[in-house]
Amino acid sequence: MRHLASPVLHALAIAILMLANQVLAADPLHFIDTSFENASPLDWEVLADGTVRIDLIYDHERDSPNRAAGHWHFRIDAEPGSELTLLLNHFSNVWNGRSALACSDATIGFISPNGSQWQSIETEFIKDAGQLRFTVTVPPSGSLWVARLPPYRISDLNRLLAEIAEHPLVEVTPIGETVQQRPLEIVRIGREDAPNRVFIRARAHPWEPGGNWVVEGMMRHLLKTHDEDSASYLDRYCVYIMPMANKDGVAMGRTRFNVLGKDLNRDWNAPADENLCPENAALELWLTGMLNSGRRPHLALELHNDESGKLHLSRPDDTQLEAYLVRMNRLESLLVEKTWFREGATDPTFRNSGTLGEGWLSRFGIDAVIHELNANWIEGLQSRPSAEHWMIYGQQLCDVLDAYFKATD
Ligand SMILES: [Zn+2]
Repeated sequence: MRHLASPVLHALAIAILMLANQVLAADPLHFIDTSFENASPLDWEVLADGTVRIDLIYDHERDSPNRAAGHWHFRIDAEPGSELTLLLNHFSNVWNGRSALACSDATIGFISPNGSQWQSIETEFIKDAGQLRFTVTVPPSGSLWVARLPPYRISDLNRLLAEIAEHPLVEVTPIGETVQQRPLEIVRIGREDAPNRVFIRARAHPWEPGGNWVVEGMMRHLLKTHDEDSASYLDRYCVYIMPMANKDGVAMGRTRFNVLGKDLNRDWNAPADENLCPENAALELWLTGMLNSGRRPHLALELHNDESGKLHLSRPDDTQLEAYLVRMNRLESLLVEKTWFREGATDPTFRNSGTLGEGWLSRFGIDAVIHELNANWIEGLQSRPSAEHWMIYGQQLCDVLDAYFKATD
């Protein structure tokens, strides 16, 4: 009996295995690749109906209930021509101690056949579950890149810096290192003795690449040779740019905090902790050097992405607040006049303590302001954002700064 049963069972087992393999082979998804620069950590599972559920991984703030997920960037390997429905999960962020869903009806995404040219797509917001759903078609190559926003990686920045570093009007100054020892730099465009100085920081929050595209557009425009406008801008001002504050987070595809759980746009009301937050400590050391050598920035812009795109005018208890607000209102008017910015400033009750904007104003008397860029819609262009639109904004900002300082000279 044993001799008879064994081959039968064996054949049966093989048949079951073959059937199982066929079922698996019928699933068009081969793999989700998150092995590359700026890809987001995630978990995924194919549900019974074939939908691919993608669980984003939160990053957490130290000594705080705050947590954030909202960056996604991955590559799908699947059968060419197949349609895949993706369900993105885990947007239940905690922001400033309050629950805050990191997606909405307005949230868009981006897809690319090659990881460099991106096209926006709509998503379906599933309100009750706090999830996003969208369907993609896999290109003939069998690979499709998917991201929240057109990615800007450290390699993109390095390529730009290599291109411009030798220009006589460019100085790249190393100012320190991130937690994971990536070099941090300030890029000066223009002459050190220019009558006005502007500081701009981008990418304190890794999911927000808009500021990187803006400063690239600005740098390229200011360095255009044989351009009369560019030459006259640099007679009036020079810019000091910290192009990528949270490099570790960008490299690792994180959403908001540095790798030790510090928010680089918080705690500016006190000196930065050089162990937990070397990115801010390095910047503060640089700023102190500027102040001590009589080179106080006349204006500081901190660039971010969110879902409303406003100029954030925080109102600390400060004796100089009124004069500051007059200048910031003028800046806002010039933004509307000379760029596609139409989103306006926050209302008069707005206050967000500890941001670079408020901290630099309170502690150093610098006209500093947070400038958000709407991640889903550009009102002034009636268009979804793109890397090109943000580069153009950087170009337009050159004109804004020129007019801003012309009025105060
Ligand atoms: Zn931000």
